[in-house]
Amino acid sequence: MNIERTLSIIKPDGVEKNLIGEVYRRFEQAGLRIVASRMLQLSQAQAEAFYAVHRERPFYRDLVNYMISGPVVAQVLEGENAIERHREIMGATDPKKAAKGTIRADLAASIEENVVHGSDGAETARNEIAFFFAQSDICPRLR
Ligand code: ATP
Ligand code: MG
Repeated sequence: MNIERTLSIIKPDGVEKNLIGEVYRRFEQAGLRIVASRMLQLSQAQAEAFYAVHRERPFYRDLVNYMISGPVVAQVLEGENAIERHREIMGATDPKKAAKGTIRADLAASIEENVVHGSDGAETARNEIAFFFAQSDICPRLR
């Protein structure tokens, strides 16, 4: 067993379109467990820091503005190969290229407004979880 944790965000478009339950249902149906969860409004500084890796990209300014356009819901998902599994459930960044049945193919409007974020590797997952949650906020399975 390779039990991992990953950071997931329902982005402002997902919250605005009332998709929180739909996205959570997909995580749970896939066997991922939600072990921490919170809704928050990102500040500009937080959004800039979270996506700092993209700061040289042409879409960075728009991405930051989109991420602060409304509240987001952040969660820690736990499960077997959770990082890769979560990325599979999300689908490709561009919903037009995402596989059928994925969150982005089914629910996203565009390559920018694509409903969800997911950590892309083990180190990113550790850092992104710590960005939103203290260790004491995370509630692992007891049995
Ligand atoms: P995320 O990091 O949000 O999980 P991702 O890993 O699939 O998504 P990245 O390449 O890390 O994609 O891009 C981060 C986010 O920036 C995308 O999810 C999307 O919201 C936005 N984005 C990426 N590429 C573009 C683009 N070409 N034009 C506009 N926005 C983009
Ligand atoms: Mg990414």
